[in-house]
This record gives sequence, C-alpha cells and structure tokens, in this order.
Amino acid sequence: MNIVILLGAPGSGKGTIAGRLAAEDASMKHVSSGDLLRGAVAKGTEAGVEAKGFMDRGELVPDALIARMIKDVIAETQGDVTMLLDGFPRNVAQAEILAATGAPIRSVVLVDVPDAVIADRIAGRRTCPNCKAGYHVKALPPKVEGVCDRCGAALVIRKDDNPETVKDRLVVYHRETEPLIAYYEGKGLLRRIDGNQGPERNAAAFKAAM
Ligand code: AMP
Repeated sequence: MNIVILLGAPGSGKGTIAGRLAAEDASMKHVSSGDLLRGAVAKGTEAGVEAKGFMDRGELVPDALIARMIKDVIAETQGDVTMLLDGFPRNVAQAEILAATGAPIRSVVLVDVPDAVIADRIAGRRTCPNCKAGYHVKALPPKVEGVCDRCGAALVIRKDDNPETVKDRLVVYHRETEPLIAYYEGKGLLRRIDGNQGPERNAAAFKAAM
C-alpha cells in the first residue's frame, strides 16, 4: 500500500479527480475524510455526533477524531493498493500523525484553483449521498437532473456548501491547510497541477503528476 495525498481548497475538485481515477483503476482506493465524517454523522455514531457541529460551521473537527478514522482505514488497506487520500491531512499536526503511522507517502499533489473560482464551483455542486459521486449543474451535470448517474439516488446539496460556510472553509484552508504546501515541499514530495482545466483534463494531469 502507498498513499497519494490530494491537497487543495474545498471545491478544488479533489473528490472528483480521486473518484474518476478509482473508478477506472481497481488498484486505486479513494478515501475522503469528509465522506467518512458525513457517514458517521448520518449513522449517528459517537464520532459523528461530536463532529457535526464543527462541520456545520465549516471548522475542522478535532485532529484525534479524524485521525482515528484514517488510521482504521490505513490498517484495513492491504496489498498492492494506492490510497488516494482526499481531505486528510488538513494541518501540520495531522501530517505528523500520518507520518507516525509509517504508511509510505508516494507523493502529495496540490490541485491549484483560485479562490474566485471556488465559490462558483461550490454553488453548483451536487452530491450523491449514497455512492458519493460528485456533480456540478453546469460543468458536470448528471444525465437526468437531480439523479445520480451511477446509482440512481436523488442528489443533494451539502449543508456546508452554502456561501457563508464556504467563506469560512476557505479561511480555514488558508490558515490551517496551506502550510502543508511548504511542509511537503520540504520533504520533496510536492507536485502541483492546474485544477481549472475541466474534470477530464484535471484527472489526467493528476495521474501524470502523482
Ligand atoms: P470535505 O468534504 O473534505 O470538504 O470536508 C467537510 C468537512 O469535514 C470539513 O469542513 C471539516 O469540518 C471536516 N473535515 C474533513 N476532513 C477533515 C480533517 N482532515 N480534519 C478536520 N476536519 C475535517
């Protein structure tokens, strides 16, 4: 098992890229910390109950809470698998926790998208609550409006995708997560791609960079 970290702001397209690569290559596994947390919230687990308020406010959940979930996924992922880690780590403390697991990090790819583009992207974002596929009303619409192409479930707008919370999430990104760029650059692991090329070319650029 080896790990490729997707770094980038909320709405930069990390989930779309990882979802595409995992769908076309069985040796790749998409692990989204946000999806793990939303799953826990939906199930009403103890972790989910603790996480919900932070998520609704666009804040980071406590490091220990999300780290426990990620460590469990790492422990259960064996064999010749590349884990596409989307949304974790979100700060330097989490990066240190990940390093301490000893799981080999192959590369860290920064999906670069200007803040001005992010708001528009998130405003049109639709998500499948069942299979987690992501859509955009203009850039990546489903075949039938409001219905997931992959599994037929009704698409939803994430609660934290409202304009106010998105602003807060971007502030958190710049303050907490952006320092990881220098952190991983210092370790010689960082690559960058332009995340503003459209879903297909973004995924191809990512694959070439990782
Ligand atoms: P995402 O789906 O990656 O945009 O994450 C949605 C929300 O889940 C974030 O705004 C945070 O509240 C929480 N979250 C996801 N990943 C992490 C993480 N690594 N550390 C702390 N909170 C996280």
